[in-house]
Amino acid sequence: MPRIAEVIAVGTELLLGGTANTDAQDISQGLSELGIHCYYHTTVGDNPGRLREALRIAASRADILITTGGLGPTYDDLTKQTVCEFFGRGLVPHRPTWERIEAYFRRIGAPPTENNRQQALLPEDCVIFENDWGTAPGCAFRAGDTHILMLPGPPRECRAMFRGCAMPYLSSLRSGALVSRVVRVFGLGESRVETLLRERMENARNPTIAPYAREGECFLRVTASAETEAEARALTDPVVAELCRVLHPYVYGVDVDSLENVVFSLLEGHKKTLAAAESCTGGMIAARLTALPGVSRVFRGGVVAYDNRAKHGLLGVPEDILHRHGAVSGPVAEAMARGVCERTGASLGLAVTGLAGPDGDGSDTPVGTVFLALFDAEDGTLNCVRKSLGDERHRVRSAAAGHALNMVRRHFSEKG
Ligand code: ATP
Ligand code: MG
Repeated sequence: MPRIAEVIAVGTELLLGGTANTDAQDISQGLSELGIHCYYHTTVGDNPGRLREALRIAASRADILITTGGLGPTYDDLTKQTVCEFFGRGLVPHRPTWERIEAYFRRIGAPPTENNRQQALLPEDCVIFENDWGTAPGCAFRAGDTHILMLPGPPRECRAMFRGCAMPYLSSLRSGALVSRVVRVFGLGESRVETLLRERMENARNPTIAPYAREGECFLRVTASAETEAEARALTDPVVAELCRVLHPYVYGVDVDSLENVVFSLLEGHKKTLAAAESCTGGMIAARLTALPGVSRVFRGGVVAYDNRAKHGLLGVPEDILHRHGAVSGPVAEAMARGVCERTGASLGLAVTGLAGPDGDGSDTPVGTVFLALFDAEDGTLNCVRKSLGDERHRVRSAAAGHALNMVRRHFSEKG
């Protein structure tokens, strides 16, 4: 079964720095979801000689070659001709494709040019990938043990065709089942995760382990293939368990949607309710929670108390605490957490106060300092932590909301 792919992006603009090679990124993401390894991304200009050389090298070390770009109607679009020449494959007119191209030009009210006919030429004996966003179809064919897939360059066409046509094509090459699991991590940077797992990731064959980072979180996708789904799943189990062990206590879930979802289930499972008092996050915690249907069962509501007067007036934070410690301080976060609990009757009160920047507040407190507090009205425990979350306003705010939700999660996991 073919398992090693190489992406060949064709386009001089990619080499000149005018265009970022996002197609390779999109394709690689899909490949790792399929558990197919990709060891090289090659980028080559619109030059037949160098493209031939890139194909020769790729064919010597991969069994799936995926090209993007150069399928269009202009003179510099030479991917199909060069690939077909290289693999000794004829190019033949494809009537349905030509009819689609004609229909497309009728719709936009312009005549097709002679060059558009070129787009209707496709390799003999290939699988055609229709293009719902543009005129150039993609295709796939097999030459010996090598599979060659050609996709258009424009990112939305490439992405749609890869997801819609190429991924099913690649899945059909394998017999048996594929199972993919996602381990989600909060509070540990991508580079730390990489350092902890580099060897495991490099040596993983089946299952494969692929990391992603998004919005300050880190995900690890574990993908296994086997004859049956149960067997594939069984292959993932020990690896998932190992990742959870190595990354404990930063793993907040396996195959879960989001941190707020985990918090929602924990609150429900423990029959607790939550309310939030937010300063620098301005309602981001409440927004993330209220995006979940049914969350009113556990979420009482939130207060955005931005100015000191609101912290005092809406949450009852004593004026002398505000005065003595400053708005960005542990005692204020604690008083906010107690205040929002008392005012909403929630069993847990969560509070955030911080300095999101870019300017400081005139005190010694550095930009990015955030205090988080969680008050449990039932057992009277009060936890407060201080975090330094960088100096980018947007990231400080979203990371503060994430840390706050994570604090609720940790509250339950520490209680057992
Ligand atoms: P078209 O039919 O539009 O000519 P094509 O398949 O011939 O499509 P190109 O001509 O190579 O593709 O590129 C079309 C557009 O897609 C250009 O704007 C180019 O910058 C962009 N593009 C090409 N390759 C990539 C890539 N690897 N990543 C991101 N964008 C790309
Ligand atoms: Mg083009």
